[in-house]
Amino acid sequence: KNRNSHETEFLQAVEEIVESLEGVFEKHPKYMELGILERIVEPERLIAFRVPWVDDEGKIQVNRGYRVQFSSAIGPYKGGLRFHPTVNTSIIKFLGFEQIFKNSLTGQPIGGGKGGSDFDPKGKSDLEIMRFCQSFMSELSRHIGPDTDVPAGDIGVGAREVGYLYGQYKKMKGAVEPGVLTGKGLGFGGSLARKEATGYGTVYFVQEMLKDHGQDFSGKTVVVSGSGNVSIYAMEKAAEFGAKVVACSDSNGYIHDKNGIDVELVKQIKEVDRDRINIYLETYPNAEYVANGSVWEIPCEVALPCATQNEIDEETAKTLIKNGVIAVGEGANMPSSLEAINQFLENNVLFAPAKAANAGGVAVSALEMAQNSSRVAWSFEKVDEKLQDIMRNIYQNSIQAANEYGKPGNLVAGANIAGFLKVADAMVEQGII
Ligand code: NDP
Repeated sequence: KNRNSHETEFLQAVEEIVESLEGVFEKHPKYMELGILERIVEPERLIAFRVPWVDDEGKIQVNRGYRVQFSSAIGPYKGGLRFHPTVNTSIIKFLGFEQIFKNSLTGQPIGGGKGGSDFDPKGKSDLEIMRFCQSFMSELSRHIGPDTDVPAGDIGVGAREVGYLYGQYKKMKGAVEPGVLTGKGLGFGGSLARKEATGYGTVYFVQEMLKDHGQDFSGKTVVVSGSGNVSIYAMEKAAEFGAKVVACSDSNGYIHDKNGIDVELVKQIKEVDRDRINIYLETYPNAEYVANGSVWEIPCEVALPCATQNEIDEETAKTLIKNGVIAVGEGANMPSSLEAINQFLENNVLFAPAKAANAGGVAVSALEMAQNSSRVAWSFEKVDEKLQDIMRNIYQNSIQAANEYGKPGNLVAGANIAGFLKVADAMVEQGII
């Protein structure tokens, strides 16, 4: 704690894990004796670097880039890159730390990493984005590789940015190594269903959880936050499962469409036009737009937070509960504060924690790496089927771990424990490194 006292998000992520693992350390004292906890919370490597670039006015801009290589216990570091002005060491470390357990849960051989920059892509021209990505990759390329560390997208980093990053990586290395980044365009090594994977995966996971309690998405009112990559495909799949998705948002406000959100229109606004969500009302004037409002004011049965960390605090959780929420599925990373999670658990709201519920994105990224290594491209159906299997397995393994360690039904504890055990055992077998 002393070493990282200013890193509030990182400490929050660690606190959640430590709480969940009490029973594990009691049952297996060897983890304590071998300092697994002390070692796992310290990144293997934290890289910070200067990213200078020239804007469209010819002015020199300087941002800071990061890559945290947190744990390689079970495989090459794997985790996305975030471009957002709020990015700092605490954010990158919380994301990298959570990634260790999430990646372990997928059942695939991938370690934990994360990176990004405090660069703000909003309002930048395409050429500015390209110049930034090139400068960022000029340094990052020294630290990554298809068998070492494989970045992907996150907030502010989608297919366009991954394309520019990949182009620059090839130029720096003088070699074509498609497996060095995931989330690539479909024409040069990207995987079908990667774009959809996180959002679809979250809905698959929540569907599994609902079914376990004799329910499903059909006929349920759903509210989703954000309107980016995760949100869009969570909305699409929830609607396909028969839910009525009535609201989504961006950082300026939310839209509420009682007739059900037109997801194709949101895709056009966000993915193609790169515009703001209020534009939705130009097509649907009867929908409502609330500037600066919290989307969680709208009553719903299933809440899918898919925007950013700590968007649901204790008060917001209480509002959701008062309004009759029965299930919460975290598409974003750490969207609920620790107090909010406790509210959900204490009030018997079915709660699908991020590490488990949003692991579909990185799972399909690992499938993209597998396709790249074997120089094949699988069909959408094949990848989607594997994704569904993976999400079902994560659910079952988390439920089983929760039962085994005396926390029946608690998916927060279950996911943390199941994710931890595999990494801890690998660390034991590899010695004190
Ligand atoms: P995008 O950049 O595609 O979309 C992010 C969305 O959330 C946008 O609508 C954005 O609004 C909104 N948002 C971001 N920051 C804030 C903020 N501080 N306050 C309010 N709204 C905000 O990102 P993704 O969809 O890829 O990521 C969303 C979440 O999902 C993140 O927590 C990410 O870590 C997590 N995640 C993503 C995965 C992936 O595969 N992409 C995998 C696993 C987790 P605006 O445009 O106005 O900023």
